[in-house]
Amino acid sequence: MQLPEPPLLDFATDTLFLDFDGTLVELADRPDAITVPDDLIATLHELTDRLNGRLALVSGRALEVLDEFGMAGLAAAGSHGSEWRLAGGERQHRPRPAGLDRARERFTEFATRAEGLLFEDKPLGAALHYRRAPGERDAAHDLAQEMADDHGLHVQRGHDMVELRISGVDKGSAITEMLGHGPFAGHRPVFLGDDVTDEDGFRAVDAHGGAGVLVGEMRPTLATFRLAGVAAVNDWLSRSLRERMD
Ligand SMILES: [Mg+2]
Repeated sequence: MQLPEPPLLDFATDTLFLDFDGTLVELADRPDAITVPDDLIATLHELTDRLNGRLALVSGRALEVLDEFGMAGLAAAGSHGSEWRLAGGERQHRPRPAGLDRARERFTEFATRAEGLLFEDKPLGAALHYRRAPGERDAAHDLAQEMADDHGLHVQRGHDMVELRISGVDKGSAITEMLGHGPFAGHRPVFLGDDVTDEDGFRAVDAHGGAGVLVGEMRPTLATFRLAGVAAVNDWLSRSLRERMD
């Protein structure tokens, strides 16, 4: 099955939720090695203006890291829904579970067993990246599952990485929460994302009468539209700004 390209944004009715890595910016070998083009930041701010503030990032990254990549000032949900803020608003967040401190110790130790393994410490999560050590994939997943079982955490699988995060929240719950607040309330949500973690977001926008947009290769998905990759997303956003006058 193939999915069509989404129609251009409707600035009168839509509210736009955007995943970050693999959707707005290309993936890199290391999570800190991505490149954020200046014109992307300008585009996001222009879209926010045209949408009367109805744009938010929805990322697995911590909000403080998104801000280091130039996303300060935008509404955003971070850490897979464990924290979020409205534009210019205060950060709301879940408490950090004690199990993440134990996971930090075990993951730090695990990351020394092979060249290319990378432990990423997050305020509300703990991630192992094995993009440059693919032979360690199964061991990384086994360790994450063990820590999750021991400490009541959730295992989140992503592109060449596995992560422990807080149970009971995900990108879908973050979108639903934000749809109840501020400028987002009462509008039609559109969510763009590339990863399996974004399926929760696709489910949430569908439940609110909106649409999910899968970014990248076709795969089983709850999205109803698809864009081929980061370049296609940036082109779609730019065309929406240029060609929609409402
Ligand atoms: Mg992504």
